[in-house]
Amino acid sequence: MPIAILPDIDEQRCIGCALCVEICTTLGPDVLRVKPVEGWKRGKAFVFYPERCITDGACIGVCPTKAIFWMRPMNYTAGQPVPLHKNGIFVKGWAEDAGL
Ligand code: SF4
Repeated sequence: MPIAILPDIDEQRCIGCALCVEICTTLGPDVLRVKPVEGWKRGKAFVFYPERCITDGACIGVCPTKAIFWMRPMNYTAGQPVPLHKNGIFVKGWAEDAGL
């Protein structure tokens, strides 16, 4: 399993505002998505395309709650989102077309 330095997202702090998604998409890498999660009213940010991350930390700079506070080495599988630490269960599937 490859390792990359990826945003460490704290789902307890994430309010699903998608500012991290917006900056990452605007700058080009397009790594993050906000998806619904069981037990939470609002969606949570996920490292949805880990293989695209260039570790520039732009998401850290825009997160209003410090849910993304740092980046750290993580195992990932290309083409698969990185699960959250706790309660990181999607209400819907991983598929990009599952929507919000
Ligand atoms: S910017 Fe922060 S609070 Fe907003 S969706 Fe991203 S991780 Fe969550």
